[in-house]
This record gives sequence, C-alpha cells and structure tokens, in this order.
Amino acid sequence: MTQSDVQVRALVLTQNEDKTVNAELRHDLTVQDLPEGEVLVAVEASSLNYKDGLAVLGRPGVVRRYPMVPGIDLAGSVVTSTDDRYRPGDPVLLTGWGVGEGHWGGYATHARVRADWLTHRPEGMTASTAMAVGTAGFTAMLSVMALEDHGLTPDMGEVVVTGASGGVGSVAVALLAARGWTVVASTGRTDEGDYLRALGASEIIGREVLSDLKRPLEKERFAAGIDSVGGSTLAGLLASTRRGGAVAACGLAQSSDLHTTVMPFILRGVSLLGIDSVMCPPDRRERAWARLNTELPQALLDTGVHTAPLADVQALAAQILAGQVRGRTVILP
Ligand code: NDP
Repeated sequence: MTQSDVQVRALVLTQNEDKTVNAELRHDLTVQDLPEGEVLVAVEASSLNYKDGLAVLGRPGVVRRYPMVPGIDLAGSVVTSTDDRYRPGDPVLLTGWGVGEGHWGGYATHARVRADWLTHRPEGMTASTAMAVGTAGFTAMLSVMALEDHGLTPDMGEVVVTGASGGVGSVAVALLAARGWTVVASTGRTDEGDYLRALGASEIIGREVLSDLKRPLEKERFAAGIDSVGGSTLAGLLASTRRGGAVAACGLAQSSDLHTTVMPFILRGVSLLGIDSVMCPPDRRERAWARLNTELPQALLDTGVHTAPLADVQALAAQILAGQVRGRTVILP
C-alpha cells in the first residue's frame, strides 16, 4: 500500500437540493480524496465547538462548500510535509483559518492542510490536552491577553465571565482565577455552581442579572469581562463596567445583536475589545499556546473535559447548540 492509498475515516457533510445537510461517517476515503495542502497530518484528536455544532447540523453561515469534513480544530502528528518548517513525526495543532468551514477539517483520521495554518504543539502538550483547549480555550486565552494588554490587573476589581459553563467560559474562568482574579461566573445553569467554583469562580450569578439591566449606565461593578454570549448580556455588562475597564467580546451564543448606547464608552472610558481567533496572526498564536501550556489549571482538565468518538458528533452538535454541553469535549477519530 502506498502513502496515497492510506484509508481515511471522516465525517462528511453533503448538501441536498433543498439545502438540507446530511452527515455521514465514511470509511471508504483515501488520502487522495483530501484537499491540497503541504502537510498531511495524522489526526489524533479534534474537539467540539459551538461553530462545529452549527456546521454539523447544516445551519447557514459556517460551511462554505460541500462536501465538507467539519471540525475547526485538530491535533496530531505530521505524516508528510513539503514545507521545511514541518517534518514527519512533528507534533502539531491547528485551530481556525477556515478549516472545517472552507477546507476539510479535523473530524477525520487524516487532514491535509497548508503549513501556514499549523502551530507546533508546545513541548509536552498531548494532542488530547491541545484539543481540551481547542478553539474555545485558545479564544479564552486571547481574551485574557487582550484584557492584560489593556493594562487590567486583578487588583483593580472583579472580572465577570458570561456563558461560564460553556467551552470558552469554562477555560476563561479557570485561567483568570489562576492569574489571581476574583471571578464572577454568569450562567444560565446555576446548578453548575460546584463545577464553576472548582474552576475557581468566587461567585455565581444568573444570566438574567446582566441581561435584565436596561439603563445606559448601571452601578459600576466589574473591572473587566469576557463575554461569549453577546445580546442583552453584553449590553448589561458594558453598562456595569467600571471606569477605565474593558470587556473582551468573543461570542454570540445568546445573540449577535448589540443594542446599547455610547454612554459607557464616553462617560466611563470603557473599552470593547473584539476577539477573533480564526485569523489570529501566528506570533500571537504561539504566545497564547505557550501560555496555555504552562497556565492551564489541572482543575479544568480534571472536571471540565470529556471525550467522545467521532460517531457521537451529530448528537453532541445538537446538545451544544441547545447550551447543554458543559466545558470542553475532545473528539477521537
Ligand atoms: P458553548 O456552547 O460551549 O458555550 C456557550 C455558553 O453560552 C453556553 O454553555 C451557555 O452557558 C451560554 N448560552 C447559551 N445560550 C445562551 C443564551 N440564549 N443566553 C445566554 N447565554 C447562553 O460554546 P463555545 O464556548 O464553544 O462558544 C461560545 C461562543 O463563542 C459562541 O458564540 C462561539 O461562536 C463563539 N466563539 C468565538 C470565537 C472567536 O474567535 N471570536 C472562537 C470560539 C467561539 P451557561 O449555561 O453557563 O449560561
């Protein structure tokens, strides 16, 4: 058997004439069926993100062409490479760059990708740990870095994390607590209080505490925030952010709408920091992954991560869109 005959197992999405989408676990593909790219990676793990849920269930706006192998994250080792930066056996990871959206992604045993999209996996970080982090955890770290770049430090007051039980939220709570912040976790699942406290949250508040706020300026409370839900929650958070504070906005699990006023910005100097993990430049990626390798608290890996096979992805996709998945899910091909 030559390299190009190597069997590939993959979850393949196809679109019907009526625009509905089918997901099928295929066992009959070979490496030759994979899209072009300089590096062939043997995928050891992928992960489940909100965006993967949208893709697998055929929701508009994620997948740009069919057939498509979803999975916006992957980690594994290099099989072959025509790019000098990567050699067979190198441990690598990939998040974003439109992989799993416009280029076949991580829900497969193999992926062929552009060398520019890959990141060397940090020393000692397993593929499973990299995918326990995945796009969600990487985004949480980019959000922490954005707050720090803004000059915010734990002694300035409380930080709030919205969507705290989700993937981005769980990692954000754990990272911030480990950095010494007093973390307030905003969640619709207040029964997850023990879990969030185990990650380091000092206080749990219901979603409605922020989303029900209606005035342009509320009582100043939070020095900083990481928001993965958008909508009225983000509006309420901006109105409650203290003078000179900042909110890193990275998600839209509640809504992509943002109805607010300029008051927090012009009367309190509050800043809204946008976080884009997909096109994040390579040097910032490497810095974020190096920090994740040393700062990721063990509590997250112990309580916030579970593992599922590729065959479970469709069921899990429905659960993550319904807000029922806690923490991070590693997918094994
Ligand atoms: P998850 O589904 O794991 O987490 C989202 C969380 O949001 C849920 O667990 C829930 O937390 C909360 N939530 C869900 N529905 C609602 C609602 N209607 N109102 C208020 N809160 C709600 O997803 P991820 O963590 O993977 O992603 C979170 C968001 O971040 C998504 O919108 C995703 O697209 C975005 N994202 C953006 C990235 C970027 O580069 N900017 C990268 C990665 C993700 P709880 O139960 O605790 O309330």
